[in-house]
Amino acid sequence: MRTSTPSLHLAKETSTLAKTSSPVVIAGPCSAENEEQMLLTAQGLKKLQGVTIFRAGIWKPRTRPGSFQGVGSIGLEWLRTVKQETGLRTACEVANTSHVAEAMKQGVDILIIGAHTTVNSFMVQEIADSLKGASVPVLVKNPVSPELMLWLGALERFDQNGITDLGVIHRGFSTIDNAPYRNHPKWDHVVELKNMLPDLPVYCDASHIAGRRSLLRPVSQRALDLGYDGLMVESHHNPVMALSDAQQQLMPQELDMLLQSLKLNHTDE
Ligand code: PEP
Ligand code: MN
Repeated sequence: MRTSTPSLHLAKETSTLAKTSSPVVIAGPCSAENEEQMLLTAQGLKKLQGVTIFRAGIWKPRTRPGSFQGVGSIGLEWLRTVKQETGLRTACEVANTSHVAEAMKQGVDILIIGAHTTVNSFMVQEIADSLKGASVPVLVKNPVSPELMLWLGALERFDQNGITDLGVIHRGFSTIDNAPYRNHPKWDHVVELKNMLPDLPVYCDASHIAGRRSLLRPVSQRALDLGYDGLMVESHHNPVMALSDAQQQLMPQELDMLLQSLKLNHTDE
């Protein structure tokens, strides 16, 4: 078993995910649904302090067939329009090498490896190999279960392919009892990762930890108190009509109120 202390070749000076003086906010709908939804949401979000990255799920990993699986490739065109109209950087989850090729072709700025992909080391390896030498930033979500070495292993697979603009997203874990969360945060586990790799940007996906709007504030505040570099919060211009994760998304103006209510402890060292 490999037990050496991990080290990554993070290019701090050139990293576009690198630590900034105030937390970065990644926001956008759980799923891209149509062009109007994407643009209305993005126009609202671009006005908010800290929101610099727009996320939207294009291909959705769902538990059972029959639920909304995402709009697929057409959503990448809407992401491109969002970038042109708002200047926000764009991000989406990629779960196989054809997703990667399509997203890169359509100019997606940041690739996200989802929790259901991070668990699969064969798939992570294929994706990482397909990116060999690319300069695209990659954000790796934690694996579904709390296995720090699996998370680290995914980061190492990208690192070994020359990806130096790396960060992680903490979205919580499936444990025996997740209550009251959707996914248990297990903060200590992530603090351990932060201690091992102090230069690695760490973002908190408050939405997928909380699973409901009422828990977004305490989860986000805890992450900021622990010195996370930013937050990911799902936002939809009309959450009750959302095709996925309706119960946890915020309207852009609600996200604004949430962000204003948070105590920002983060400072540049
Ligand atoms: C998402 O971000 O919409 C998502 C599906 O997340 P996760 O990979 O954390 O389940
Ligand atoms: Mn979601």
